[in-house]
Amino acid sequence: MKKIVLIFIMLFVCVKVNALEVNISKSNNNSLKITWKDDGSSKYKVLKSTKKNGKYKQVINTDKNSYIDYGLTYGKTYYYKVIGKKTSKIVYKKVVPNKVNNLKIVSYGANNIKISYDKVNVTGYQIYRSTNKKKWTLIKTTSINSYNNTKLKNNKTYYYKVRAYKKVNKKKIYGSFSNIVSVKTNKKGELISKINNFRINYSKKELIKILNVSENIIDALNINFNEYAYNNLIVYMNLYSFSEDELIKQLNLYDKFENSEIEYALNKYNGEYGNNIASEEYKHRKDLYILGYSHEEIDFIINNFNFDEINKYLNIKKYNNLIGFKNSKYFNIENIERYQNYYNKNKYSEDESVLYVEIGLDNEFYTNMKKANVDDGKLILVNKYYYVDKDYYANTETLGSGYGSGSLNKEAAKYFREMVKEAKKDGIKLYSVSAYRSYSTQKNLYNRYVRKDGKKKADTYSARPGHSEHNLGLAVDINCASSSRHFENTKEYKWLKDNSYKYGFIERYPKGKEFITGYKYEPWHFRYLGSEVATEVYNLNVTYEEYVIIKKSLWKLFN
Ligand SMILES: [Zn+2]
Repeated sequence: MKKIVLIFIMLFVCVKVNALEVNISKSNNNSLKITWKDDGSSKYKVLKSTKKNGKYKQVINTDKNSYIDYGLTYGKTYYYKVIGKKTSKIVYKKVVPNKVNNLKIVSYGANNIKISYDKVNVTGYQIYRSTNKKKWTLIKTTSINSYNNTKLKNNKTYYYKVRAYKKVNKKKIYGSFSNIVSVKTNKKGELISKINNFRINYSKKELIKILNVSENIIDALNINFNEYAYNNLIVYMNLYSFSEDELIKQLNLYDKFENSEIEYALNKYNGEYGNNIASEEYKHRKDLYILGYSHEEIDFIINNFNFDEINKYLNIKKYNNLIGFKNSKYFNIENIERYQNYYNKNKYSEDESVLYVEIGLDNEFYTNMKKANVDDGKLILVNKYYYVDKDYYANTETLGSGYGSGSLNKEAAKYFREMVKEAKKDGIKLYSVSAYRSYSTQKNLYNRYVRKDGKKKADTYSARPGHSEHNLGLAVDINCASSSRHFENTKEYKWLKDNSYKYGFIERYPKGKEFITGYKYEPWHFRYLGSEVATEVYNLNVTYEEYVIIKKSLWKLFN
């Protein structure tokens, strides 16, 4: 009996050890990262399904130990397993917006508070309030990451929590609730109710008389309770926490200073009463206010940028679409001016404007050119902004008979042949009509087109030398290379469209994306990237230019 139990335990342990260890290590809104332990395999297959016991489809065959999946549908649950030498258990995740983090009270006024929280970059937020932490009421649905809750009652404690939501069709998909914050308005002697008394019980004139201060200060005080104004921010920040005597002292103090001297007053004030607000933050708030930013925008800037960034980029001029740009995944502060200029000149959304500027589209084609990153290997990007030198080494081999003319990079050639063979099984005949071209061949070709059609027209269909993917040995024109023959209407094209990514090839100059690629529709031109990246480009349905930026932002997110 003992022996049998032992065998069972051993069997159980064996089975357990035999599974490939895999987990969903990170997730961010509708993207997630799966990682797994090395089991000695050279390649791992990742399979995915939307039903636990449904059909699993291979999404990648990779030599890495992680896979980032993105563009997932909110509300759906995705199941994954990984197969190396061992097979993993199934891991899964329901796609919901991120949890709202860092809910905090950013300011108090008379019977009002302002809360803010980190952005989630989905449709919006729901703010819930409670007086007992048991029964919660939805008090606000908003698209921005702060909220001003006014008309709080005296003698009460309020609790707040927030969750993000994403609207899919007409349904809302919710993320987890944030931390809870609370505020009290009830205790006797607390100045928050005293402020209330000031507001309720005294007229402006009476208040001036009582406090022996100027009309300006009272105006400031009144504005204060409702919104930020830079010359009374300090008063705003501190009123609630001091006695009436001290308040009067403060108001007298501020009466002596002009706006330009407020900083001095602030420093003095901080020295006397502690750091209720950093003077640097105050300075930024003041500068931003002068530039014309609203208090809502100023809060956003203070919450989302560090002081160096504000100094270098934001205290210079007002960017009307700053919040929209910053909400884009592709945002880089150093390009803020370019985003705004591009947005003003074009019809694209804020998010698109950021993406397109990151691609470089705010510059004319063949301006602001940079050397392509040769270290990217088969993923090298060349286009009208990136080029390779005359002496770029493509390491090609001839495709061979039965595959059409020309040569390709060795790896690309191997997979091109494989693709041609597989297509043949489906009754599809594919062959190369043009593959690798040397720098000088491309130069002659381009010059010939320029002589024929002029530079402007030639640029829409022929690359300048060094800017061509044919220079890399990573592009192949399949079956034809002429618009008039309408390759897009053939069954060969359809097959390529549905299958080429599996062999590492993507359609490089698609219809409707001419303004990004700089080339007119070329249904025959396919670019080799390797199946891993080609699959991602295919799934995202984007150009390679867009993919490079999207991928960069994802790496920032997950690493
Ligand atoms: Zn081509």
